[in-house]
Amino acid sequence: MSNKYVIAIDQGTTSSRAIVFDHAGEVVSVGQKEHEQIFPAAGWVEHNPAEIWDNVREVIGNALAKENLTRHDIEVVGITNQRETTVVWDKRTGEPVYNAIVWQDTRTQDIVDALSAEGGIERYKDRVGLPLATYFAGTKIKWILDNVEGARERAEAGDLLFGTTDTWVLWNLTGGPEGGVHVTDVTNASRTLFMNLQTLQWDEQILADFGVPASMLPAIKSSSEVYGAVASNQLLREVPVAGILGDQQAATFGQAAFGAGSAKNTYGTGCFLIFNTGEEIVSSSNGLITTLAYKLGDAAPVYALEGSIAVAGSLVQWLRDNIGMIASAPEIEELASQVSDNGGVYIVPAFSGLFAPYWRSDARGAIVGLTRFADKHHIARAALESTAFQTREVLDAVNADAEVPLTELKVDGGMVANEHLMQFQADILGVPVVRPKVTETTALGAAYAAGLAVGFWKDLGELEANWSEDKRWEPVMGAEERERSLRLWKKAVTRTFDWVD
Ligand code: ADP
Repeated sequence: MSNKYVIAIDQGTTSSRAIVFDHAGEVVSVGQKEHEQIFPAAGWVEHNPAEIWDNVREVIGNALAKENLTRHDIEVVGITNQRETTVVWDKRTGEPVYNAIVWQDTRTQDIVDALSAEGGIERYKDRVGLPLATYFAGTKIKWILDNVEGARERAEAGDLLFGTTDTWVLWNLTGGPEGGVHVTDVTNASRTLFMNLQTLQWDEQILADFGVPASMLPAIKSSSEVYGAVASNQLLREVPVAGILGDQQAATFGQAAFGAGSAKNTYGTGCFLIFNTGEEIVSSSNGLITTLAYKLGDAAPVYALEGSIAVAGSLVQWLRDNIGMIASAPEIEELASQVSDNGGVYIVPAFSGLFAPYWRSDARGAIVGLTRFADKHHIARAALESTAFQTREVLDAVNADAEVPLTELKVDGGMVANEHLMQFQADILGVPVVRPKVTETTALGAAYAAGLAVGFWKDLGELEANWSEDKRWEPVMGAEERERSLRLWKKAVTRTFDWVD
């Protein structure tokens, strides 16, 4: 089998990618295309599901064509995806009834408020591991049923299907209205507010509270098993699809963070730290959520604590697109490196409220500590530092919840190209930060899950052996300076609270 490859489809927030991997876990070929970010109103973020599906097909074609590959070279397909982003479509036509409502979208605040009037935002936390928040898919499904004309009736008649983008891509890939497979995996299901963490089944009581018909929901499967085969009208026809992992769980898997106590932090649009707790379901007392890490076929599920940070790289995009301070994301590093500190400036990018560890949907972004001295270099620096500070707060929560403190942090994602940020991250954490050679860990994790299901890789040990270190940053900042800047950061965070009235 070693002359064959695995292809991973990475349906991300800003783009869709198809990446071909070899048996050593090395990237052989990449196809990538961005899709439109639609902002119809303040706090609303949408994607066009049809555009996403078109792009997925196109990037598969590109990835194959670049290396003159055909479906015969591909053993299996894995899928990873932006989590929580919600698509509802008609199962007979394949037409979405509304745009995809993206994970960052905060329009469902009223739904959250109404549901949490009884029992608070932690009403379902012991069953599903999550607080009630606009972030999670369940609130978005309810919004579509409540607000799109005729949607509720069609859903109740059994005509509509829901999926996160893994399910949307899989359903289309396996035939759409003609026999498309309607399933998701446990990691994606654990982001809906509807899946019971213990039984790994949809919770009928919660569905009733939300008014969401169970018939819309995909079947919940493991993260690594054959779900179906690609339909005959597609380039990859007849190739089995055998792995699904939500993007953050996929990155954890791609980083070979298999054992309890291992962790990774991914720096992309948002920033997500996942801490593997093994077969134990750990409930956080410090603002983390409990989620599925993965489930391999019939083996026991593996759980994780997660610190979700809504805004990291998207603050850099905001400085580029909304403010025009930089022309490209990497330019921020050059600006930031021209000053020796942040000049007292702190940016708290609470664009979608604040996620972990605060879960304050009433928060909105702030730039504080401004003086006549501050300039764009300090702003650039403060923007990067905000990601590192948010990560520190999440890591503190992990250390408070877990018995053994983390002694180093594995990192990946688009922002880890930024060496300035990685050094500051090590400084502010006080532990080393480690970047692997293959930073496409999200796609790699999905490839691994798929490859394991069909014996392309034989076990986790084989995957672990593929992991190797590229670079390590050691902390050099003094404890006093670290504590002082952290104190100021926390003060800045409190300035964002209670802004929405
Ligand atoms: P996603 O998978 O969430 O779409 P990626 O992992 O591809 O995101 O990372 C892209 C993000 O990283 C963008 O938000 C971009 O602004 C940011 N980014 C890319 N390069 C740099 C850089 N050199 N410095 C800081 N941020 C960067």
